[in-house]
Amino acid sequence: MNARTQSILSICTFSLIATACLALAPVTNTRTSPLPAEIGTPDEAIAELMAGNKRYVSEKTELSNPAKAREALAAGQAPFAAILRCADSRVSPEIVFDQPLGELFVCAVAGNIPTMEIIASLEFGVAVLGAKTIVVMGHSSCGAVDTAIKLRKDTSALPGSLPQLIDQIIIPCTVNSDPSDPNALPKAIKCNANQGIEILMKSSSVLADAVKKGDLKIIAGVQDLGTGKFTITSK
Ligand SMILES: [Zn+2]
Repeated sequence: MNARTQSILSICTFSLIATACLALAPVTNTRTSPLPAEIGTPDEAIAELMAGNKRYVSEKTELSNPAKAREALAAGQAPFAAILRCADSRVSPEIVFDQPLGELFVCAVAGNIPTMEIIASLEFGVAVLGAKTIVVMGHSSCGAVDTAIKLRKDTSALPGSLPQLIDQIIIPCTVNSDPSDPNALPKAIKCNANQGIEILMKSSSVLADAVKKGDLKIIAGVQDLGTGKFTITSK
């Protein structure tokens, strides 16, 4: 039994949702190529994501999703990282971080904002499945953030439930934006990603405790759609 498996089983033992743990017990690694090192810490998880992004940017991707991996995938999951991404069709963490199915626990919502449902999902990814890092993943040319700049004074013209979503970006990231500033959008995208960390830490004692114990690191960053490069924006 490796360290990662032990850690996850330990979480399961003390979890109030042990039943869910049993149903989702970790499986044999499904990678077709071995990891450079065992992923047992948050820093190792972040390093693997950044290494995967480097492979993607340089068109040297290594990982595939062969049919032979499906049996193990069907038996359970043990993702090493959880991702909060925008719903934008040009953003795919598995591709951008060069990871096969089963390695990333991905939550998507336009504007990558941590709603309560997203927070609960990330808690599950960390406390039950054992993810070592959470990445709040913004991206260049984000339409949700752009809308939050343009309609920063009044979102009531938007149809349906959209105002409720865009308002969460406006406060605090675009309320004082100057749309004539060419840097307004990149600045707001970075602010919105970084803001996600603060919301997660304030809203979830499960995540905050895991960070305090050193079991989890939460980072934020922005994917450049033009180059594919993911840049960490949080301190
Ligand atoms: Zn977006």
